[in-house]
Amino acid sequence: MEDQYSRKINYLRLSLTQRCNFRCLYCHAGRNGCSAPDELSLREIAVIAQAASEIGCTAIRLTGGEPLVRRDISEICETVRAVANPQKLGITTNGFFLGRLAGSLYDAGVTHVNVSLDTADEAVFEKITGIDGFRTVLDGIGKAVATGFKRVKINAVLLHGVNDSEEAVRRLAELTERLPVDLRFIELMPFGLTGSDYLKSFVSKELVFRALPDLEKIPDYGEGPAVMYHRQGFPGNIGIISPMTSCFCKSCNRIRVLSDGRVRPCLLGSREFGIRGLGVKDTADVLRRAIASKPASYRDGSDNLRINCEMKRIGG
Ligand code: SAM
Ligand code: SF4
Repeated sequence: MEDQYSRKINYLRLSLTQRCNFRCLYCHAGRNGCSAPDELSLREIAVIAQAASEIGCTAIRLTGGEPLVRRDISEICETVRAVANPQKLGITTNGFFLGRLAGSLYDAGVTHVNVSLDTADEAVFEKITGIDGFRTVLDGIGKAVATGFKRVKINAVLLHGVNDSEEAVRRLAELTERLPVDLRFIELMPFGLTGSDYLKSFVSKELVFRALPDLEKIPDYGEGPAVMYHRQGFPGNIGIISPMTSCFCKSCNRIRVLSDGRVRPCLLGSREFGIRGLGVKDTADVLRRAIASKPASYRDGSDNLRINCEMKRIGG
């Protein structure tokens, strides 16, 4: 459906859990995050997916927390495919369990996989995520590519003094030199790190342009907020998602359901709607109301973003 600013909202992001086996510096906000408060059940997920399909969502992305820690993840994907039949069914994952699960996710109908990987350095990986899992994630990415998903993307967040040298960016970009993957650099948003910690850690997209001077812009790539670039001779592409130094609200096409079943019309806004316990028709009505309430922009006249929520509840 269209919102009041004539934006076509056809993309649902659904956070399946706040639980995660990683502790990423930029996401985690210091809590242990291992409980599963108010996680949506398979039935609730089916109702939300069907309602989203009824209001015109043709793309659904499952996220978290870490969606692959849910034991019923394949069943969830099969159910979403069965009730909503989306053109795109995506998963955003830290990649740790991907090597093990890629085949069953593919069989369950997943078409697009995004993996978070911020560095090509094993020790830096552990510093960022708190986990000795670099090789496992790299193997997971290789498995996803080999499995044949329509697209495999890698999301990287740069943090000042951690992984923000030009050399570090070039080493990560080497993945796109040997694999047909889209590596997207996402500017840090003030979720896990706040206040002066956030300001000290923020790295602007300009670093990527300095590190990779041979980027050629791809017009109309059609990948949401990412501006995509190609480098001659390589199978993969480079993308930039810059929520802090640019504003892409004009082309926003999404609605979010958080891990506790609250509907959030805007990533960086604070308004939420309840949908738990409702049937498909009422859920669709609440989704419509939430879409109708989407603000023109998260900036909305103020540069002070009010972040009242953890990223692992929202799901990115
Ligand atoms: N666990 C999965 C993963 O890491 O891909 C899915 C959930 S994670 C919250 C979704 C995306 O949000 C990841 O690509 C992650 O890099 C990004 N993210 C988390 N915190 C962020 C922050 N403070 N600023 C920008 N991106 C962030
Ligand atoms: Fe977990 Fe993903 Fe957040 Fe990292 S970014 S702590 S992997 S939810």
